[in-house]
Amino acid sequence: MNKCDLHTHSTASDGSLTPTQLVERAASAGVTTLALTDHDTVAGLDEAARAAVRLGIRFVPGVELSVTWHEQTIHLLGLGIDPACPQLCDGLAGLRAARHRRAEQIAQRLQRLGVEGTLEGVLASVQQGVVGRLHFARHLVACGQVTDVRAGFDRFLARGRPGYVAARWAELDTAVGWIRAAGGQAVIAHPARYRLTHSVLLRLFADFKAAGGVGLEVIASSHCHDDRLVYAQHARTQQLLASMGSDYHGPDHSLCGLGQLPALPDGCVPIWHTWPNSNGE
Ligand code: AMP
Ligand code: MN
Ligand code: MN
Ligand code: MN
Repeated sequence: MNKCDLHTHSTASDGSLTPTQLVERAASAGVTTLALTDHDTVAGLDEAARAAVRLGIRFVPGVELSVTWHEQTIHLLGLGIDPACPQLCDGLAGLRAARHRRAEQIAQRLQRLGVEGTLEGVLASVQQGVVGRLHFARHLVACGQVTDVRAGFDRFLARGRPGYVAARWAELDTAVGWIRAAGGQAVIAHPARYRLTHSVLLRLFADFKAAGGVGLEVIASSHCHDDRLVYAQHARTQQLLASMGSDYHGPDHSLCGLGQLPALPDGCVPIWHTWPNSNGE
């Protein structure tokens, strides 16, 4: 049986396991096909690929790109990318620079709210990785401002909260172009999270497909049962390939463990059916 998990994070971005630890945990949870999709970086892919060879699981090099589409942040997964592609690498470098600028602005806002020294604390915890809001949330927990990460978002970091800073990420068609230049497939991540109206969602699909996007994440840990059915139906009618992923961020920060995803609803075309040597499940 093919147990796919095509959306996970490591310490290269805001996950709490190293790429090696992530692959080891996935393998012991029975995952047979794993994509590492860190936010705006490919830095963890080589290490993860080596661990996957050692443990005999199929590894899919991936990335999760931050996109701004009509003032809305959208996440796109790139699956099966060549991490050495210069166009992709240049694009990712620009996104990381935007993340760093945003981190400085978030820290300034938190300072005005009386939380001192956040940037230094956050950057120390990030080390070689790519900074994101989850690092800020963990830091707020560590310094006793909130009791858990969720409260960090609810009180400070979520959109509309006082530590929120809107960033301008990549354009949708540009980001899909980077993924395609790197030989990958672009997938809209966790579509239910954006809370788009039906007509706006259809516009997103149209723009995404016009740019060359091919997939939709139907199974995501943030999707409830009804969301899965709704997005499976969209995948069918839009002729998008269906993907599935846990969006795993580590044992303490995930809605769903590794290897625990439900199967895709009937009638969807799984994205892995388009891959060479797919065993057909
Ligand atoms: P960023 O891309 O830096 O703006 O941060 C987005 C990341 O923050 C997501 O990938 C999650 O890891 C995390 N995140 C967003 N909202 C929440 C939340 N309510 N609770 C916990 N983590 C969250
Ligand atoms: Mn994340
Ligand atoms: Mn995401
Ligand atoms: Mn993610």
